[in-house]
Amino acid sequence: MRLIIFGPPGAGKGTQAQLLANKFGIPQIATGDILREAVKEGTDLGKMAKTYMDRGQLVPDEVVIGIVEERLRRPDCAKGFILDGFPRTVKQAEALENMLKKLGVKLDAVVNLEVDEEEVVKRITLRRTCRNCGAVYHLVFNPPKKEDVCDRCGGPLYQREDDREETVRNRLKVYREQTEPVLKFYEARGLLRNINGNLSIDQVFQEVLKALGVQ
Ligand code: ADP
Ligand code: ADP
Ligand code: ZN
Repeated sequence: MRLIIFGPPGAGKGTQAQLLANKFGIPQIATGDILREAVKEGTDLGKMAKTYMDRGQLVPDEVVIGIVEERLRRPDCAKGFILDGFPRTVKQAEALENMLKKLGVKLDAVVNLEVDEEEVVKRITLRRTCRNCGAVYHLVFNPPKKEDVCDRCGGPLYQREDDREETVRNRLKVYREQTEPVLKFYEARGLLRNINGNLSIDQVFQEVLKALGVQ
């Protein structure tokens, strides 16, 4: 299975990508997670990316395209993969198409999570992320068993710098202007599957499986 999980910030891409990755036994490739890891390690890439991420802007296409190209070549992607948060511009979508052609593989579907803007803001502003493993929680909709502690690894939970309300509004603007046009690109290729992402985590997962024709 080769999938893209698409949608505005806070739509539930990471949450659904994780569930799908577990179900199919294929890797979740989240460009946001890879960039945050680089920021944590303080590499040159991380330092550069941070200046964009803190403002809610996109990291330059060449940088992100390079990251994904390297990642897709690794052997664990041979059986499939789930792209989460990439592509985010038409240029990235075109670059991905070329990469996949070179690798001799095809996408199965682009799952688009449609969520109302007010719901997205509620989701993001109460999102908590594990500093250690990147697992994602929500203080109300998906709380950890123990406050501020990751169920999966015991690591501390924190609020992402870019998840504060001021930055969130800017990210939504960036989404509408630069990312939404990617939907047309995939619609034209017959790959787009629109899903009502306003439902509960489990209901959305069932809808996604239905759209993919699996149970
Ligand atoms: P969300 O899950 O809330 O949509 P992400 O974790 O995917 O956020 O991304 C966080 C930030 O990382 C983005 O605001 C952007 O600065 C950067 N980023 C992630 N993926 C990309 C991408 N494909 N192209 C450019 N920037 C990206
Ligand atoms: P994205 O990767 O698109 O930015 P996430 O998967 O990180 O989105 O989800 C954003 C926030 O909303 C997280 O706090 C997550 O726990 C919560 N969330 C995800 N899916 C749902 C849902 N269907 N209903 C309610 N909350 C959700
Ligand atoms: Zn953790």
